[in-house]
Order: sequence, then C-alpha cells, then structure tokens
Amino acid sequence: MMRRPLALLLSLALAFPVRAVDLPDLGDVGTSDLSTAAERRIGDEIIREIRWKDAAYLDDPEIEEYVNRLGHRLVAASDKPLQDFDFFVIKDPTLNAFALPGGHVGVHSGLILAAQSESELASVLGHEIAHVTQRHIAQIVGKQSQAGMAMLASLLIAVLAARSSSQVSEAAIAAGSAGALQSQLGYTRDYEREADRVGLQVLEGAGFDVRGMPSFFERLQRGTRLYENNAPAYLRTHPLTFERIADMENRVSSMRYRQVLDSSDFGYVQAKLRAQAGLPADAVKDLESRLAQQPRDATQRYGLARALMRAGRLDEAQAMLDKLRGDAPPSSFIEQLGAEILLARKDGAGAVRLLSTAQKRFPGSRSVGYALADAQILSGMPAAAASGVRQLLNSRGDDVRLWQLLSRADQALGKRTAQHRAQAEVYALQGSLPAAIEQLEIARREADADFYELSAVDARLRELKQRYRDEKRDKERFGGS
Ligand SMILES: [Zn+2]
Repeated sequence: MMRRPLALLLSLALAFPVRAVDLPDLGDVGTSDLSTAAERRIGDEIIREIRWKDAAYLDDPEIEEYVNRLGHRLVAASDKPLQDFDFFVIKDPTLNAFALPGGHVGVHSGLILAAQSESELASVLGHEIAHVTQRHIAQIVGKQSQAGMAMLASLLIAVLAARSSSQVSEAAIAAGSAGALQSQLGYTRDYEREADRVGLQVLEGAGFDVRGMPSFFERLQRGTRLYENNAPAYLRTHPLTFERIADMENRVSSMRYRQVLDSSDFGYVQAKLRAQAGLPADAVKDLESRLAQQPRDATQRYGLARALMRAGRLDEAQAMLDKLRGDAPPSSFIEQLGAEILLARKDGAGAVRLLSTAQKRFPGSRSVGYALADAQILSGMPAAAASGVRQLLNSRGDDVRLWQLLSRADQALGKRTAQHRAQAEVYALQGSLPAAIEQLEIARREADADFYELSAVDARLRELKQRYRDEKRDKERFGGS
C-alpha cells in the first residue's frame, strides 16, 4: 500500500529536519501526475536503500522467488500485465505490506505467517498491486511540488534506513501518523476502496479463492482490538473500516465459489520463516508441536528438519529430510535444504551433486542456480561456478547476486582483473558508481589481464564515468539538494 511511505512521510515532515539526499532527476514535473518513468526512478532509488542498507531486508533468494512468482501471477491477471513489478520481504513480525513508487511491493514476514491460506496472502498482494496499477502513488505525489517531493523522498529514505534499528523513529511514526492520516482521509477512503475492488478482480482472475480477502482483512481488524492503541502497522497506515469489509463481502457473495488448494511452496515458505525465527532451540520446539498436530504435513516436517539443522542436530535433520523426500512430491525447497545439510556436514561434493541434479529438474529456479554456484565455490570448484554463472548472466545481466558469485569465483581462481570487473558490476547495480569506478581502476592495474580484457575494462570505465557525470549534472539541475 502506498499509504505507508506517504503517511510516514507526511507525519515525519513534522518530526525531522529536512536532510539533503541524492535524488534522481524527476523529469517532467509540469504535469499534475508523476510520470511513470520518474516514479520508477524514485522507486529504484528507494529500493536500493532498502535492499543494500536496511538490515531488515530478507536476503533469502528462495522466499523472494516465491513471493515474486505469487505476485507476478496476480499482475498477469491485472489490466496492466506488462507493468514492472518486483516483490520483496521485510523481516518484521508486524502485519504490514506496502507499495513503493515504481511497482516495488514489500511484505512483512509477520503478514506471510499470519495468512491462513495462500489466497489470503494473495489478497493483500492484490490490494497493493491495485494501488500501483491505478497509479495512486503518482496521483498523490503529483499533487506535491517538486521541492516537496524532494523533501518527502529524502525523509522516506532516512526513515527506511533507520527503521530496523531505531525505536525513536518508530515512536515518531506512531506519534505523527494519526494527524497525517486524518489529513489524507479524503484520498484514503477512495483509494482504499478502489484498491479493494481492483485487488479482488485480480485475485479472481488469477484463480485464487476470493473469500480470502474479506476473511483475512476481517481477522486483521479483529486483531486490532487486542492491540488497542498499538494497532498492526497495516491497519495504522491502511484504515480498515467495517464498511470496507462489508463491501468486500458483498462483492464476494456474487462471485463464483471456487475451492483452491494452497501450493506446497506457500507451506514451505511459512515453515522456513518459522524455522529461522527466534533461538534455534525455540524454533525446534515450535515446529515439533506443529508437526505433532499435523503429522502428515510435509511442510511441517521440512520446517522441523530446517530448525534441527539450525540447532546443529545434523543427523536428525538428515533423517527427517530423507523421510520427507520419500513421500513428498519433488520440490526445490527439499533439494536446497538437503544441500545445506550436506554443506553443514562438510560434504561439499555431495551438495554440488545434489544441486546439479536439482538444477536440471528445476531449470527456472534462480535460487537453485545461486546455491549451486555457492556450493561449487565452497568446495573448490570455482571454474565450474564461474562458467555456470557466466551462462546465467547472458540473460540476466542485472542480477546482483550472480555478479557477486562471479567475483567470488574469479577471486578463488586467482583472476584478479576479472574479480574486480565483476565487483564493479555489483557496485554499479547497487547504485554506487564511485565504488564501481574504483573497482575498474583497480582492475586496470592488475597484471593478469590480456589486451582484450583491458580494452573491455577501459570501455566500461568510460561508460560508467559518463553515467556518473550525467547523474551529478541531473542532481545539480534538480535543485542542488
Ligand atoms: Zn491500501
């Protein structure tokens, strides 16, 4: 929901002094709406801050792959199936989800765990997707002046950077948001209603159980009363009224009933989040009691195996996994856990064998590709890792994780020029052009490059220097902030 950044921004405008921050050029500000391209640039800038600087960002390719698959299935059923979207997870027990400018949709781990079905989780994502496809953010932001935008965006970045560590910012948000929400209520009700309506269509179009939406939102609202003044973040920023729930129920009652089974991946993701929560011993206890209640549930067994591995009980984890593999349908989640257990047991070659087979069975899985290259580097097979990663980079040149793996593989191979070249791409994609340029300058000075490699480094160096000059010029023109 775009309400989160916006409500936050407006409230924090009172609480924090304006701070200078590097911002992208906003482009054509004469129009009343923010242009899609400008929205994307702002969103990209913010997501880089979250992804590379916010400790709460969940850096888990398996879970990220799942939420993106779920999210894109919904986007495909929207009226903007080709619009850019990406989905990510924030480690946070509170119930929240939010859309940033440019189609970046974040969901808290607490919300994933609170969903009692995949359709429920999909209903929240559908609502956020609707905020984006209906251009609510652009409309609200477009009403601010460009100077106001700069201030708002810089505050947003400051808040996001501080959000995981600082209690102060939490308090400031809670104190300021009531007034901010009130002043935005005119938009809020209309936009929320539209996001509910469009989100429900998306949910239905993607083949989910539409009753998931009123049931989840109603449970969220029931939960609010228990929290008293400390309502779940989702509701604080997303005012949820009985009227909204009644509207949803009305619409749902006229739709066709459809029984929808959860994908097993939904269960694996919930189990993985549980296995990683709290202390290892507590996670083991939690998953043991869940498995006792659902002894035939493969995903609970997976969760317990993962918690046991975390607690260092590797033999038990292995036994649990072997049993799971015996009677659950094939899953990349099972294979990746199997490889992690083997790596923990110092059987790197076994992990590589397992993941090589898994890659053939699940060729579209990015997380399996990363895990294989990582296992190869860890077990003294960096040449195989580098060649596999290079192949994947042919179609995914903007994948930071692949460049990181390539840099590690080249380092292990002693190819110093190549190592720094790859590291330069990591920094460039993370938005740190000066660091990227520095890596290329280091690469030039290494002695192991041949003529062709040196020319490639020089060409890339010229490109990045030019891009850096352009960005600096844009920022100066934009207001000298
Ligand atoms: Zn909303």
